[in-house]
Amino acid sequence: MGLKIPCPNCGPRDHTEFWFGGELRPIEAPDAREDFRRVYLRDNAPGPQRERWYHLYGCRRWLTISRDTTTNRIGD
Ligand SMILES: [Zn+2]
Repeated sequence: MGLKIPCPNCGPRDHTEFWFGGELRPIEAPDAREDFRRVYLRDNAPGPQRERWYHLYGCRRWLTISRDTTTNRIGD
């Protein structure tokens, strides 16, 4: 059974309709070192993380979900 992403506009849809946008990161950084870390480095830690997904083959909007990277379970 594939991963279902709950789109707030379209309802639960298969993950193949989406483009993975990566971990949710801060929009700004206080200095150049933190900005480099924010843009290029990922935590890639096991467990729950906030992620951005783009509904490419649906409403074409970005959404944020919380997904456990070890089980693919989606929380809130
Ligand atoms: Zn959608």
